[in-house]
Amino acid sequence: MLADPLPLDNTTDCDKEPIHIPGKVQYHGFLLAVDRDFVITHCSENIEKFLGVKAASFLGRSAACLDVYLGRHEPNGFLAYLIRLWNTGKGFEPMNPFPMEIGGVRFNLILSKAADLFLIECEPEISDVTADIPQILGLALSEMIGESGKFDWLYKIAEQVKRVIGYHRVMVYEFHPDGHGEVVAEARDAHLEPFLGLHYPASDIPQQARELYKVNLTRIISDIAYEPSPILSLAAYSHLPLDLTHSALRAVSPIHIEYLKNMGVASSFSISIVCRDKLWGLIACHNYLPRFINYKEREAAKLIGRVLASAILLREQEISMAGNEELERIGKAVAKRLSNYSDLAEAVLGEPSVILDAVGATGAALVYDRRFYMTGQTPDEPALQKLVAWLGTRMTDELYETNCLGAEYGVMQPVTDACGLLACRLSKDLDEYILWIRPELDTAVLWAGNPEKQANAEGRISPRKSFEVWKQTVQGKAEPWRPMDIRIAHEIRGVVMSGIHDRTGEMRVLNEKLVRAYKELSNYNSTITHDLKTPLTAVKGYSQILKLNFELGPDAVRIVDRIIHSADKMLIMIEHVLRYATIGQASLQPKPLRMGQLLQEVIQEVKMGNGAAGSGNGIVLGEVHDIIGDETMIVQAFSNLIGNAVKYSQQTATPMVQVSSEETGDAVIYAVRDNGIGIPAGEQSQVFELFARAAGSKDYAGTGVGLSITKKIVEKHGGDIWVESDGKSGSCFYIRFKNRVEA
Ligand code: ADP
Repeated sequence: MLADPLPLDNTTDCDKEPIHIPGKVQYHGFLLAVDRDFVITHCSENIEKFLGVKAASFLGRSAACLDVYLGRHEPNGFLAYLIRLWNTGKGFEPMNPFPMEIGGVRFNLILSKAADLFLIECEPEISDVTADIPQILGLALSEMIGESGKFDWLYKIAEQVKRVIGYHRVMVYEFHPDGHGEVVAEARDAHLEPFLGLHYPASDIPQQARELYKVNLTRIISDIAYEPSPILSLAAYSHLPLDLTHSALRAVSPIHIEYLKNMGVASSFSISIVCRDKLWGLIACHNYLPRFINYKEREAAKLIGRVLASAILLREQEISMAGNEELERIGKAVAKRLSNYSDLAEAVLGEPSVILDAVGATGAALVYDRRFYMTGQTPDEPALQKLVAWLGTRMTDELYETNCLGAEYGVMQPVTDACGLLACRLSKDLDEYILWIRPELDTAVLWAGNPEKQANAEGRISPRKSFEVWKQTVQGKAEPWRPMDIRIAHEIRGVVMSGIHDRTGEMRVLNEKLVRAYKELSNYNSTITHDLKTPLTAVKGYSQILKLNFELGPDAVRIVDRIIHSADKMLIMIEHVLRYATIGQASLQPKPLRMGQLLQEVIQEVKMGNGAAGSGNGIVLGEVHDIIGDETMIVQAFSNLIGNAVKYSQQTATPMVQVSSEETGDAVIYAVRDNGIGIPAGEQSQVFELFARAAGSKDYAGTGVGLSITKKIVEKHGGDIWVESDGKSGSCFYIRFKNRVEA
């Protein structure tokens, strides 16, 4: 449909066709080339039609020989003069065209460069255009400057161009990022079928044609029915094809001519829209009868193309500025949530309208701290786990986006309902991400001819024959992510990262405070215990002296005994509290422990401690398994448990304590069982708390610290502790250690 496309799916062949050196010019004008000495090196064969002289007769002669044919009253040698003059200024383009006459008919002389040569082209001034060009041009420009909606003014541009050049159909054709084009605005004669909204494959316009469009901004094929005229050259140039990149008369590829014929087009004209050095699109014009528009009118159309490009850029800037505001708004909203909520997942996903609407997603997930948090429509957690594992290998950047996840993901795809994925990586090492999901788009693309059926059986270059509208149902694709969505995703990532950073910072500060508090506490602890211990020891000492060295009455002795007993109790309590505090700070020094021997020694100690009371004889040590642990701490833990078992069963008729262990999987479970007073179910969990004592143990000496110490030790070893008891016929304390020594 367009100017100069090579309608092929074999892009390699297409892209190779040297369309800038066709060796021919279009029939409606003639071309000459001169070297730096103004010697004619090339001449198109059709010059004879215009000047009545054979082309070959010009070759090798000075350009001055043309004086008699060209110009009205120009002085001799004016061509050489013109070339020299224009070549020193800003180039030929701003000076073109030079008006002149051939045989009383007005022509335009157009000069350009081709490597070391200069091209002299002559084409008629008379055109088929009747419109008032300056007026229409002014109108077109004001439309572009005044209007706001992009598509609205694109339509108006198409209409204005149609009025300038009078073609049957004028289309604004925009290239998509993948290179294929779409008709985004159209002005056409009422009886013509619309092409608006049709898509054309990227191969319709090969790469070198696109490059040429960026250099030479307009192209006309006034009548596709006429044979182009070959360019003759001096023998010295026969192997050096003439570069017609800047030529106005460059002949078009025969394949393209056939392509246009297949479309029923007789004349075509196109204007490039170049934005920031990129070919944004074209204004493509078709006429179903031959039509010629002269150089000045083409220049007017070119101006429209240029202003259109500036207007597009301006609109893009406007959108980008509006985008900046949007970006700031979303960034602030997310930051506010991060500061309001301590829970990161709640902050990021808690308000779906913030996180989903920001990028137009239907689902989002936060993968953080080995957990998956989701909102909206997302794949389930196992599917997300696989996706994240895949992203880990796939993502090279901090951001990844696709609108056809299935195709990218390949056979592993577990996410049928997620076709669009926008993934922001928060941490590569920790596999942490924010993911946005879009569902499959239920849509169709209308192609001007089935782009998949263009291959010719022999695989040779051939033009497209069918332009019948072909509806392609799009499967497995989501709405593509806009550049703005990607900017927003970056912004959110930045805000979340800094939120995480702040939190880590906060945690570090808290941690430091804790360490300091702990240190203060332990200093305080040792000070207080020391300060308490000294006077208490003195109280105990003086009381003993009082008892031994003074004649005291029985009441006084009883009182002194109670003082000594209370001081002892207090000293034990202080000792226990001190131990409890030091356990928390102490670092483990683990080693394999021979538990049989170690527990035997503990039992001996307990027995000795209870020797006076005659208890502790019924302690049975069964078979026990070795573990890895800190010897001092493990001894302490079992001393407490066995000591308690002996203590709280000593008033039973036949006290019995059993110590044993058994293996379960990786773990070893120790049991210290007694037949003592037991612990009622309601108190079982409390007995592990500091200073907590069960109601039934009032008559037994104790501080309520021992089990807290034991629990702390067990937890430091990564184990756990619990008690089972029916509340009357004994208790059984269990410790599960996970670090057993392999047999
Ligand atoms: P205490 O010095 O009081 O024994 P512990 O911290 O060692 O302190 O124990 C806390 C409480 O748990 C005890 O006061 C007691 O009520 C209960 N307890 C601990 N072991 C046993 C046991 N073997 N039988 C019954 N009660 C027990």
